[in-house]
Amino acid sequence: MSIGDETRKIVIAIDGPAASGKSTTARLLARKLGYIYIDTGAMYRSVTLKALEGGLLEHLRENPDAIESLLDNVDIAFDGDRVFLDGRDVTDAIRENRVSRHVSFISSLKPVRDALKQMQRNMGGRRGVVMDGRDIGTVVFPDAELKVFLIADVSERARRRYAELLQKSGDNNSVPSLEELEQEILQRDRSDAARTHAPLKKHEDAVEVDTSSLTIAEQVALVYNLALEKTAV
Ligand code: C5P
Repeated sequence: MSIGDETRKIVIAIDGPAASGKSTTARLLARKLGYIYIDTGAMYRSVTLKALEGGLLEHLRENPDAIESLLDNVDIAFDGDRVFLDGRDVTDAIRENRVSRHVSFISSLKPVRDALKQMQRNMGGRRGVVMDGRDIGTVVFPDAELKVFLIADVSERARRRYAELLQKSGDNNSVPSLEELEQEILQRDRSDAARTHAPLKKHEDAVEVDTSSLTIAEQVALVYNLALEKTAV
């Protein structure tokens, strides 16, 4: 029976700290399997961008309940690799550092987590999905047939993020330094792991994969083989 067989489609949860290789691995894996890929970090980033653009951010620190009205009117959609917020393509805007700096705060708010968890469950409900994030295996799909927890050295993660930002901007003056990126990543990991609701944590059933010295092809092949094992009858 093939992995793409409708009756054998599974949910694959890929969690881990910032820039550990989750989205690259998940995107390529989904393509190889003919599955849908959902980048849940992009969803938290989209809500953060909306709060920033609406001037809500400062207000939220004193009155976190104000996020409710934003959540009542938010539309997040994926089309291939593009992310749309209220119908607008925000694929690049959500990667800007101003969003990265505030996303952990927005993600710590319970109404945000509840709303996005529901959206994510609706998106993945029919199986045949690869979803990456921080709490996919622990909270969103605790019944995911395959749970993977990706890790990598922080210096390697900062280097990858630097290369990605540089490739996008084409101008190294507008890209934060490696040291700044390392600090931002560590700070985000600390906040994500320390929060009360759905903290970043490895599920006890998750397979841990250290990507520090793996190539992208090796990472994808490794997780693909794990998926094959889960679908073998
Ligand atoms: O994956 P990415 O680094 O783009 O995620 C951005 C942020 O979104 C994370 O640092 C975290 O605060 C939040 N996030 C989350 N739960 C998820 C995915 C992302 O809290 N499932």
